Amino acid sequence: MRTSEIPGFYKLPAEERLKVVKEFAGLTDEEVRILREGGLPFEQASRMIENVVGLMPVPIGIATNFRINGRDYLIPMATEEPSVVAAASNAAKMARARGGFSTESTHPVMIGQIQVVGSPDPERARREVLLAKEEILRKANEQDPVLVGLGGGAVGLEARVIQTGRGPMVVVHLLIDVRDAMGANVINTMCESVSPIIERITGGKTLLRIVSNLAIYRLARARAVFAKEALGGEEVVEAILDAYEFAVSDIFRCVTHNKGIMNGVTAVALATANDTRAIEAGAHAYAAMGGTYRPLSRWSKTEDGDLLGELELPVAAGVVGGATAVHPVARVCRKILGVGSARELAEVMAAVGLANNLAAMRALATEGIQRGHMKLHARNIAMMAGAEGDLVDLVAERMIAERKIRVDRAREILEEIRRGQG
Ligand code: NAD
Repeated sequence: MRTSEIPGFYKLPAEERLKVVKEFAGLTDEEVRILREGGLPFEQASRMIENVVGLMPVPIGIATNFRINGRDYLIPMATEEPSVVAAASNAAKMARARGGFSTESTHPVMIGQIQVVGSPDPERARREVLLAKEEILRKANEQDPVLVGLGGGAVGLEARVIQTGRGPMVVVHLLIDVRDAMGANVINTMCESVSPIIERITGGKTLLRIVSNLAIYRLARARAVFAKEALGGEEVVEAILDAYEFAVSDIFRCVTHNKGIMNGVTAVALATANDTRAIEAGAHAYAAMGGTYRPLSRWSKTEDGDLLGELELPVAAGVVGGATAVHPVARVCRKILGVGSARELAEVMAAVGLANNLAAMRALATEGIQRGHMKLHARNIAMMAGAEGDLVDLVAERMIAERKIRVDRAREILEEIRRGQG
């Protein structure tokens, strides 16, 4: 069986790491080349968005040690931030001792909104829209026979009256099972197609017809137990629980707690060319659903004194549609992940988010984040000061030893080394 536990992976030269990943995922030489070179041809990029003048390469790191529902995954994470990939890998290693992550997800049902203004009797309009459910769903489903053929399509209808600064409005929600897509395009198309029916029924005018990024019906969940011994003992478990309760009770901490979760989720979203803003927006709104902004995760102690972590968040991510299936690098990343569906991808993202959350809390509650962070950061500072090749590590190590990780010091060290060599 393939294992994602690859001792010393982080110490290997990048070329050797690529070989390990190639073997694990059965990549072709061409796929390895794409990954290595960030293979998005300029020509293709200029067809993706408007006014293209360049590319923005971001490193992809592989998180190791992940076991999710009994299966091993190597996880490509695209991020510019040091420590994120190491943190995920470390936490996944700790989770492994108790069987790894278990995950689940709901059906990929998204919400499309239709705003109705000027209805003479909004409350009656709301009721009548609901009575016309079958006609509305039928019309919506005519728009995408491919999706319907795959078992997806419009599956439900909701309607509310909201009070606004410009009077009452009827808000209709079309619930659409988008299968393996993120879904925004199909949702928008379906919402536009049913708006004449809704105008006829309500006697009002439809204005906005657009996906909601608060995907409360499209949830992914992950849970894992982290053994107290692996975490560093009972004291660490207690400190992490204190850190968690800080986030529960304080929004200034909570937003950073959730940001730490999204470090993992968004890195996987970016590596698979998913809409990172959609997922971020949905996650933070979901965290505030109850009226108070709360942590997306929950942490508690098991009867054995181990730490139990649970995460639930909406994940509107796809494996078809948008750029996901056309971006060459995203395709390779998906092959490495080996996910067969959008739901599986969402569950992997939840597991990674939980791992990053644990790693951040553990670091903060014990040695503080800066020590670990600065080691990686020191290399960036060394490069900022102009170090290249072997000098990057040399300068970084000197700064760490001196506990002075600053660009001015990096320049001095570099100068000293160069003088010494010359
Ligand atoms: P899409 O329209 O490119 O692809 C989805 C279509 O692919 C479906 O409608 C279906 O016809 C077809 N399909 C084939 N196999 C499928 C399968 N197994 N499962 C599902 N569909 C399958 O993509 P999309 O996901 O509708 O759109 C995503 C894009 O929309 C993203 O790039 C996103 O950034 C963008 N977008 C986002 C927002 C927002 O978040 N508010 C708004 C507008 C657009």
